[in-house]
Amino acid sequence: MIGGQGASANIDSVPPKSKLGQNFLRDPKAVRRIVAALGDCSGSTVVEIGPGRGAITRELMSKAKRVVALEIDEALTAQLSGELTGAGGREIVIENADVLAFDFEGASRAAGGKLVVVGNLPYYITSPILMRLADSARALDRAVLMVQREVADRVTAKPRSRDFGLLSVMVQMHGPVEPIFTLPPSAFSPPPEVHSTVFRWRFAPRFEELGVDRDVFVGLLRKVFALKRKTLANNLRAAGMEPETIARALEETGVDAKARAEELPPEKLASLCRWLQEKGSLRAAE
Ligand code: SAM
Repeated sequence: MIGGQGASANIDSVPPKSKLGQNFLRDPKAVRRIVAALGDCSGSTVVEIGPGRGAITRELMSKAKRVVALEIDEALTAQLSGELTGAGGREIVIENADVLAFDFEGASRAAGGKLVVVGNLPYYITSPILMRLADSARALDRAVLMVQREVADRVTAKPRSRDFGLLSVMVQMHGPVEPIFTLPPSAFSPPPEVHSTVFRWRFAPRFEELGVDRDVFVGLLRKVFALKRKTLANNLRAAGMEPETIARALEETGVDAKARAEELPPEKLASLCRWLQEKGSLRAAE
């Protein structure tokens, strides 16, 4: 955590660093829509990923019980902390921290309840952030996140659609997702080269309901989605599984021998996982 030391005259005078994905939102209506999409957070601790110059943070301050904003850029952290700490509204902490190392479980325990997450994500680490949130799903209630449009298309894709893949199943196994709205590059300063989409993610992991161990299932997903154009059977073979085991597994779980993983809903992948695990052909973190 950093105080106001080192803060310069105005946060807009801190030059943007493109290597940290610093494309700042400059559309006030979009900011309001993002915070409104979180719903009522007057009783919640909201963790903001990458507050930057504080566009979302300022809107959040009057709505959340407590805001914990994680910013990796030391200069921005100092500046924002100097501008917002003690500025009225609810409790706010601007932490100089890497979101990928943040302990969401610990923060949830300290808050005495599940966390709400918001962020216009730094696009260079979107997938690792989504995986970090998935890993922390038990500590989280919901998230509203802005990502590159193509990533949102993959995250919210339905099985058999062009964009459905490993990222879609990984995210959707941790709870339902829905796109909310899309913004053009001109909504940001400096403008990125891509459109951006905001989506909502309600954390409700499905592993128990589908009767699979999370780590075992994630291990299977990594195998069957390893090579996109290959069939699921070929991917399992490439991962070292016996052809006879694969053939029996597919037959007994009703999966077409020529199916690709992208064509199967999570329920089908889960029944395949259960079969393989019962036969001792799959272990966690393989
Ligand atoms: N929320 C602000 C807005 O909407 O204008 C800034 C969003 S900008 C797209 C992403 C922010 O994430 C930047 O401020 C950047 O410095 C910060 N950031 C980049 N990598 C980070 C990391 N690993 N952990 C925390 N923040 C990070």
